[in-house]
Amino acid sequence: MTASAYRAVPGSYRTPSGWNALLPERTGRRLDGDVTCDLVVVGAGYTGLAAARRWSARRPNDRILVLDALTLGEGNPGRNSGFLLEVALAEDADPSAIARMRTANALVRGAMSEIAALVESSRIDCALARRGTYRAAVGPVGLAALARYRRFLDGARLPYAVLDREALAARIGTRFYQEGLYSPDCYLAQPAALIRALAATLPPNVSLLEQTCVTRLVRDGGWRLTAGGHQVRAPHVILANNAFAKLLVPSASRVVAMYTYAALTEPLDDRNLARLGSDEQWGLLPAHRLGSTLRLTADGRLLVRSSHGYEREAPPQRIEAELRDNLGRRFPILDLPPFASTWGGATGYTLGGGPLWGQLAEGLWVSAGCNGGGVVKGTLFGAALAELASGGEPADVLGLFGAARWLPPEPFRRLGYLVAERWQSRQGAAER
Ligand SMILES: Cc1cc2nc3c(=O)[nH]c(=O)nc-3n(C[C@H](O)[C@H](O)[C@H](O)COP(=O)(O)OP(=O)(O)OC[C@H]3O[C@@H](n4cnc5c(N)ncnc54)[C@H](O)[C@@H]3O)c2cc1C
Repeated sequence: MTASAYRAVPGSYRTPSGWNALLPERTGRRLDGDVTCDLVVVGAGYTGLAAARRWSARRPNDRILVLDALTLGEGNPGRNSGFLLEVALAEDADPSAIARMRTANALVRGAMSEIAALVESSRIDCALARRGTYRAAVGPVGLAALARYRRFLDGARLPYAVLDREALAARIGTRFYQEGLYSPDCYLAQPAALIRALAATLPPNVSLLEQTCVTRLVRDGGWRLTAGGHQVRAPHVILANNAFAKLLVPSASRVVAMYTYAALTEPLDDRNLARLGSDEQWGLLPAHRLGSTLRLTADGRLLVRSSHGYEREAPPQRIEAELRDNLGRRFPILDLPPFASTWGGATGYTLGGGPLWGQLAEGLWVSAGCNGGGVVKGTLFGAALAELASGGEPADVLGLFGAARWLPPEPFRRLGYLVAERWQSRQGAAER
């Protein structure tokens, strides 16, 4: 992608997705003329595809268009670390929250089962496997976060195992962490293949058009969108483009684009794999928000994800050096192979962690703000939004998961972010 294209297309990135680079090249269909349809979904991520699928189930005779700025797999849905959590996250463990979280967890599990069934019917191999996840801490701040998480697991009666440094090392080959928890409630997948699998199973009345960026949305009786140089008219629009929804409607400005970065190594050789622990493949999430994510993939690569950037993607050279350092500190016992790729992605963050979800105007709906964990929750929220928008009775998304809170305008927002980030970085420095 040229520098000008990188700046011009929202949701495009400086470097290709490392996961997508491992797959056969894809040429998706683009929008090639003006069109009128019943529903337009902006964004072919987990949220958008689930919304289109649910609308189609409720209104099988409608014509539905899903428009995405990029080729499927290259955009944000194909850039994540591939953790599909089967339970919602909980920061608190008071009894009222636990009751709410149990209901939320049942919904999240339902969405996960739906994803697993779709993947199976797609016959696309996306290495989806219920491997569980580790969560680990290095210093006092991380340990306190781990203890909070453990209280939530206890309260919600979810299974887990506690592992000390040596037990973790025996399983995943690093002595970097002081303590960890293993929870079985998580799948791992190759995310670029996963989003392709979900797209491959869309019903026939849904058309997916790629490299078709929506640049304008105006009220025109119904709604008129300018996309890929053409006009699309529809009475209903669902915005499922996460951190970029605010570029189309200012009322979506509660969602902040927070960039985070990942790298995948070349496959480890047998000598290095033998130095890792007993688990053939695994995933580890940091106990503290600012820590690093790790994975050993099914094909023997290490993944590391770390670092954050506010509303702007950092230069790849700086990020690559940081990620290399992170991995080296965790695995001094390995002769690490070079990175095959390093990339960034934009997650949509909200104050309070709830989504921006619901109706914005007549015929205009939004589900945005993945808060760094939207593969399964996005699937749930997208389907629930389509249910609501098509006149059904959806789950109580806002009551169960909270709503995105108001944020001050710029420059106060950025300043607030910088202060909080600096404070948290200092506190959680050991976890990086
Ligand atoms: C490095 C990294 C690691 C992560 N790890 C995990 C993880 O392990 N598990 C997890 O659950 N989450 C993870 N996340 C977050 C995850 O990517 C999101 O939760 C998930 O992709 C959200 O799905 P979504 O469909 O809501 O939005 P997105 O995936 O952001 O999809 C939005 C889509 O809208 C498109 N778009 C944007 N603007 C326009 C426009 N104007 N016109 C047309 N299309 C547009 C984009 O191209 C994109 O395809 C990670 C994110 C990153 C960056």
